Amino acid sequence: MEKIPITVAYGDGIGPEIMQATLDILQAGGAQLDIETIEIGEKVYLSGNSAGIAPSAWESLRRTKVFLKAPITTPQGGGFKSLNVTTRKVLGLFANVRPCVAYAPFVSTKHPKMDVVIVRENEEDLYAGIEHQQTQEVVQCLKLISRPGTEKIVRYAFEYARAYGRKKVTCFTKDNIMKQTDGLFHKVFDEVATEYPDIENEHWIVDIGAAKLADTPELFDVIVMPNLYGDILSDVAAQIAGSVGLAGSSNIGEEVAMFEAIHGSAPRRAGQNLANPSGLLLGSIMMMVHIGQNDVAERVHNAWLKTLEDGIHTYDIFDEGVSTQKVGTREFAQAVIERMGQKPEKLTPVSYENASNVSFNVTPKAQEPVNIETVGVDIFLRCTDRDPNKLGNALSPYKVGKMHLTMITNRGVKVWPDGFSETFCTDHWRCRFKSEELEASSYQDILDLQQAITTAGFDIIKTENLCTFNGEAVFSAGQGA
Ligand code: NAD
Repeated sequence: MEKIPITVAYGDGIGPEIMQATLDILQAGGAQLDIETIEIGEKVYLSGNSAGIAPSAWESLRRTKVFLKAPITTPQGGGFKSLNVTTRKVLGLFANVRPCVAYAPFVSTKHPKMDVVIVRENEEDLYAGIEHQQTQEVVQCLKLISRPGTEKIVRYAFEYARAYGRKKVTCFTKDNIMKQTDGLFHKVFDEVATEYPDIENEHWIVDIGAAKLADTPELFDVIVMPNLYGDILSDVAAQIAGSVGLAGSSNIGEEVAMFEAIHGSAPRRAGQNLANPSGLLLGSIMMMVHIGQNDVAERVHNAWLKTLEDGIHTYDIFDEGVSTQKVGTREFAQAVIERMGQKPEKLTPVSYENASNVSFNVTPKAQEPVNIETVGVDIFLRCTDRDPNKLGNALSPYKVGKMHLTMITNRGVKVWPDGFSETFCTDHWRCRFKSEELEASSYQDILDLQQAITTAGFDIIKTENLCTFNGEAVFSAGQGA
């Protein structure tokens, strides 16, 4: 079989030990890999490279397109960029896939039947990193959800379900509150779901969905989520399955993919032959499927399950009543190697016969052109006078074209006209100017309006156009409005 080039980083802390164990096991399983090693992490950061990765390492990653990465240590103190976030964004790794499986009774868990795969959107949402302090009292973070970004992740979840014989894809959003952003995610989920009639689909509001996941995870199969919910709930899911130390994950892009353990570099355990290599090994098994060496993935995964079920455990999952032998990193790897070709008897063996990660088609559908009209503007002001009526009266005379002041909100709550005196107000005001019947305004009208308001002495901190798309108003109203 042809050797597949991959890029490997041994990382920091326990990284080198668990990577060596992982590579030894893969080799014993018959992996055909042509390994290029790169240096990332602490040493690179401390050499003055704030990204923690050298230009030559990027060159290797872009060439091999497959990255097996051990955890790294981010040095204490400011100024160091998260290598994970950088890698994800630069290489367009839009999908984070994290299987969370219980291995009861061999690893203690309250949810012995749990077998959930979290598919997290990896590039958008509140993680776009667009944050500003706007007034002395208020900061903002922009939550960006795109249709193509959502379509890609939702398609990925359904394609994954199909490839891995999963029965159901669940979507979590908070679209009862965030009707535009999470609303789009839910809408795209419903649209894409119709193309996969063989797979059941459902949607839960994230709060009750999260509660159900923590309480009865066996109700779920594949769960797809926007970035923030996925970040939080994938850790919850891994932990309640048994241990975050046992979970691997993949970060998939259209070209490049990265595979890793979900835990960190555990510096206190470094160099003592103590660490559990299982998380990284499971990440590497996902990599073997990704590069089409499914037989190796299956052999290694089953040998690992057999080792677990034989009670050969590292310190982190060692349990007097269940485990038979407490072993170090190297001995654990040796035990897996000795079981190569065996299958578990009590745990369910895995089969990767029909699985394929590489051929997923996640291309978003072309969109029909839409007719966009600007019908008004939200002008955000910084104003330390807390009287909304005074502000409303002062701004009411300003009318340009068909736009006039229709509403003022403070932290999203309508405070003018007819606000409640009980509503707490900050120094951050949204003043909505629009036409009554959603008639179009020009951008020149918006500029003229801002000119007039600025000349009158108001401090504009930002504006947001109010638009209709094919005649439909696509902006939120204020609460209480
Ligand atoms: P950690 O995951 O490294 O360790 C948390 C705890 O889990 C520790 O008590 C450790 O002893 C234990 N543990 C973790 N992995 C283990 C394993 N394989 N076997 C046995 N025990 C294990 O989290 P932390 O201590 O918060 O972070 C340490 C460093 O790792 C930090 O510098 C952090 O920035 C970094 N980190 C890196 C990644 C990554 O590279 N993907 C992810 C998370 C944290």
